[in-house]
Amino acid sequence: MKKKFVIIGAGLAGLTCANLLAEKDIDVTIIEKQKTIGGLAAGINENGFSMDIGPHYMVLPKDSVITEKIKNMLGEKNLLSFLDFANSHKAYFNNKVRRKFPTIKEFLNQKSRFFRINVFLEIFFLKIKLVFSKSEYKSGNEYLKKNYGKLLYENWFKYYYSNIFEEENLPKDFVMNQFPPIELKKRRRNIKGSQDNLKKSPFFDCYPRFGMNDLIKKLNEELTKNKVEIILDSNIESIERKDNEKIITYEKDDKKLQLVFDGIVFAVPPSKAINWLSNSTEKIKSNSNKTPVAYNAIITYLFVDQEKVFDGWIINLYDPKFLISRISQQNHLSKNIAPEGKSLLTIEIKCNPSDKIWKNTDDEIYNVVIKEIKKMDILNAEKIFGHRIIRIPRIYPKFNSIQVNDEKLVNLINSNENEYTFSHEYDSNNLISNDTDNNKQYRLGGMLIGISSAYNLVEQIIINLKK
Ligand SMILES: Cc1cc2nc3c(=O)[nH]c(=O)nc-3n(C[C@H](O)[C@H](O)[C@H](O)COP(=O)(O)OP(=O)(O)OC[C@H]3O[C@@H](n4cnc5c(N)ncnc54)[C@H](O)[C@@H]3O)c2cc1C
Repeated sequence: MKKKFVIIGAGLAGLTCANLLAEKDIDVTIIEKQKTIGGLAAGINENGFSMDIGPHYMVLPKDSVITEKIKNMLGEKNLLSFLDFANSHKAYFNNKVRRKFPTIKEFLNQKSRFFRINVFLEIFFLKIKLVFSKSEYKSGNEYLKKNYGKLLYENWFKYYYSNIFEEENLPKDFVMNQFPPIELKKRRRNIKGSQDNLKKSPFFDCYPRFGMNDLIKKLNEELTKNKVEIILDSNIESIERKDNEKIITYEKDDKKLQLVFDGIVFAVPPSKAINWLSNSTEKIKSNSNKTPVAYNAIITYLFVDQEKVFDGWIINLYDPKFLISRISQQNHLSKNIAPEGKSLLTIEIKCNPSDKIWKNTDDEIYNVVIKEIKKMDILNAEKIFGHRIIRIPRIYPKFNSIQVNDEKLVNLINSNENEYTFSHEYDSNNLISNDTDNNKQYRLGGMLIGISSAYNLVEQIIINLKK
């Protein structure tokens, strides 16, 4: 008899997992609470164009089954590779859009001799102080101030990290690894920082020619071919475990329905999956709900009456005084995303749920965005002909929170026979992967994490089913 599995959640990870399981001759059903599939990689349709919710590019491994499969699905020529990645990523720092964020060395070279002398004097005295008193650091920020000095911290580090982290809460180990303590003799080398790591990456950056939603469409075609059933717009009420059966009760079209499966894959964040665990897990459930894990996102889409707004594709903002953290020109990637001669800017604001901006109305958010963009001097306001705003809670990971609790939850879910989840709740767009052989770090994308987790999980499921 064929095994029957249910996938809860139809994001990129869930869809990939469903297809792989179906290819292994497993009967697969997907249950999704939204009316459409794709999750964060779905497109928003606007006048016949499909805008991305968030993803702006995929990072794929150069030689891998995953990349081959995606190429086959889209058609090789429809996977656009970005060789000139560096030139497309701009940085807004010190009131200017620049080719890139300056390294410490470049930054110091731009400053006056007086400033440079002060920085070196401060580091020198800090170094002497550290010889006499061993320091314990509570945070990455404290470490940086006590090793690199307040001048460099206030004028460079604070800006450098403003694009990624909550300013007062830098993760200590990560920061110390990126910027090791300065040895005076090797000062020149250490102070350069570690920003050149991406150059020899075994990954490449790419994008589907017809928009990210094209990948979702192609996955959907595969699902139909593989006879995967998709139940959309439904709300799972409970999951009961009886002998080896998983009984799912869900609501659809105001009707209560039930389905029985041999196995479950939770392709939703673990914090959601715990809602369907048994009562014995109350303690973990209540602990995990208290942990702050991620920032919220406010995405503003601006429609602009202009072919191109700026040179390049993405501007990362390195300025803690700005609420905007990233601006991208989606039409730079695919012509199918905005009408000819027009542009679509996607503007991201990263915030805490308690921040004022999160509670603002759409009009208030629009005004903040316009004010900041005007300050950046990249857009003539008269050229804007429309906007749209969406809010996504808990999406950008907080580095400090990739924590034990999540691991506990994943282990707990996986300890139920034939139940699995991905631990990707916090692995969004700033995840760093270590290549220990070459001692390099690469920045991966949330999509690759989702897809590769699905491949690994399916391999594990098949091994377990054969036992
Ligand atoms: C602004 C932004 C920019 C980004 N930029 C990039 C980028 O440049 N590159 C990159 O690689 N990644 C990027 N990402 C991240 C990437 O979009 C995600 O990591 C990836 O799409 C996540 O896929 P997933 O399947 O793991 O999760 P999701 O897409 O979140 O899928 C989870 C699915 O589960 C469903 N679900 C939730 N609860 C339930 C429930 N109770 N019952 C049933 N279904 C449920 C959801 O509706 C959703 O469809 C970005 C994300 C954002 C928001």
